[in-house]
Amino acid sequence: MSLTVTDSTHTTIPAGLTIADTEVDLLVVGSGTGLGAALAAHEQGLSVLVIEKSSYVGGSTARSGGALWLPASPVIEECGGLDTAQRASTYLDAVVGDSAPQDRSTAYLRHLPATVDMLRRTTPMKLFWAKEYSDYHPEAPGGSAAGRTCECRPLNTAILGEYLADLRPGVMEVSIPMPTTGADYRWLNLMSRIPRKGLPTVIKRLAQGLGGLALGRRYAAGGQALAAGLFAGAIRAGITIWLDTALTGLVTDDGGQVTGATVVHADAAFTITARHGVVLAAGGFDHHMDMRWKFQSESLGRNLSLGARSNTGDAIRMGQEVGAGIALMDQSWWFPAVAPLPGAAPAVMLAERSLPGSFIVDQNGRRFANESADYMSFGQRVLELEAAGTPVESMWIVFDQQYRNSYVFAAELFPRMPIPQRWYDAGIAFRADNLTDLATQINVPAGTFRATVDRFNENAFAGEDPDFGRGRSAYDRYYGDPTITPSPNLRPLLSGPFYAVKMVLSDLGTCGGLLADSHARVLREDGTVIDGLYAIGNTAANAFGRTYPGAGATIAQGLVFGHIAAHHAAQSRLVA
Ligand SMILES: Cc1cc2nc3c(=O)[nH]c(=O)nc-3n(C[C@H](O)[C@H](O)[C@H](O)COP(=O)(O)OP(=O)(O)OC[C@H]3O[C@@H](n4cnc5c(N)ncnc54)[C@H](O)[C@@H]3O)c2cc1C
Repeated sequence: MSLTVTDSTHTTIPAGLTIADTEVDLLVVGSGTGLGAALAAHEQGLSVLVIEKSSYVGGSTARSGGALWLPASPVIEECGGLDTAQRASTYLDAVVGDSAPQDRSTAYLRHLPATVDMLRRTTPMKLFWAKEYSDYHPEAPGGSAAGRTCECRPLNTAILGEYLADLRPGVMEVSIPMPTTGADYRWLNLMSRIPRKGLPTVIKRLAQGLGGLALGRRYAAGGQALAAGLFAGAIRAGITIWLDTALTGLVTDDGGQVTGATVVHADAAFTITARHGVVLAAGGFDHHMDMRWKFQSESLGRNLSLGARSNTGDAIRMGQEVGAGIALMDQSWWFPAVAPLPGAAPAVMLAERSLPGSFIVDQNGRRFANESADYMSFGQRVLELEAAGTPVESMWIVFDQQYRNSYVFAAELFPRMPIPQRWYDAGIAFRADNLTDLATQINVPAGTFRATVDRFNENAFAGEDPDFGRGRSAYDRYYGDPTITPSPNLRPLLSGPFYAVKMVLSDLGTCGGLLADSHARVLREDGTVIDGLYAIGNTAANAFGRTYPGAGATIAQGLVFGHIAAHHAAQSRLVA
């Protein structure tokens, strides 16, 4: 078997099928978390067709970190964690509030263990608890600092055989063969500070990556492992996937129930009859800029989303065409990121905001947020400021040489590595021996900037942030540096050179969409059900309202509601 990943090659999976008008039990639109729905439906004895607009299987799910928020799940219990559905329910009540119907959270918690069992039966994924990856609001009632986030162990993606080339490439993995889980990432980041934690992780993962290659195995972690696991399950089950095939409309009968869909493949139109319904799992409107500017903010930069480029809100608009209501369209899984180099996407940054010896300022040279807050809350804060008439027009993360010597930056700059010249040339990085010069370079008022630094430093000495509360939450501290006291998130910036790197408000995808109920059925604005139509993942309005409860809550809700939709559809035959 060749281990060279080439461009996507197949049009259908299994290869060689003919694309034509057809009739199936369940049509699933989108091959990210939609594959979870397909696997659950197949187990229920339904014939399933998955259509995928792009040339790749996996969607944003394959680009992701692969974290799954699985409260009170068998995975946590088996790894020795203590959690109960009641505590998780208290937490969701507290953080979701009335921003989404409570019965969606209840259904999520109720069906989660069965979803995990289904994934274990139908895929090669091995899940583990990423202990200590705190909930994003651990101090809320029912919140957990020990965390409820789980992940796949590194998975040998070579099991996909010839179809490995059809798996959407990731964005989160390191450039060397070293399958790095989210749990590993924390310690790799701190490798130069706490080598006894970081080095064994590096050695273990390098041995797995390189040793695997020698044995013909290609280990991947994170979203690549998760999407490959789902894909491998679909191949094993014989589920048909049509690539390069886009949904163009939904077919309804006289009573308004959805009985199928029209699709386009290679400029030819086809009709698919779906006897038990259609599951819309086509992601959000990440790259449909008119929708983003209309529903979210005109200030959003063009195509700054990290979501799959093919996620353009098609299924949301087509759902609306058959009468569906929409909700939470102003919401995204916001994600502050490093500003893109010309022609590139923004670069992922996560722990960088929490590590000591850094802070973030706006165009006025002022801090404006708790830098260590979870990424969705950080983004919401940016948009709140805009709505209040005090917009954040530019964002700079400022740090000193000690920070640069200590931590990984943007997944590519290891401790002590200089910032590449191309970053300076592109105007996304600046370096100066003193803070006044740095302020001049990034065009912020030097006096205000100096005052910001002085106040930040004075409080950082005491391990406090009275302005924004950085370091108070267990979540902030998870990505901090425990060798720095009294707060792992706060250290004064005392000696140069100093750096500023430009940031942008990116996102992991949008999360407003079609109104759906606790069975994942799509609803009209008046709350009545559109029979035969289901929406999951980012095509549906976030089951957790305006909140990101914990790492992995987006993919996990796609998988759980996919399971729910499949079971509901199995009970309801619409077309004779
Ligand atoms: C860098 C990054 C890291 C992330 N990390 C995490 C994480 O660790 N944990 C977590 O929970 N979330 C994470 N997320 C977010 C998460 O990946 C997404 O929210 C989630 O995968 C969305 O799942 P989905 O099934 O709704 O959409 P997707 O996985 O994007 O799948 C949608 C699919 O539908 C297809 N499609 C679109 N339109 C059509 C059409 N008209 N016809 C047919 N097909 C269509 C698309 O091509 C796409 O393949 C991350 C995202 C990114 C970008």
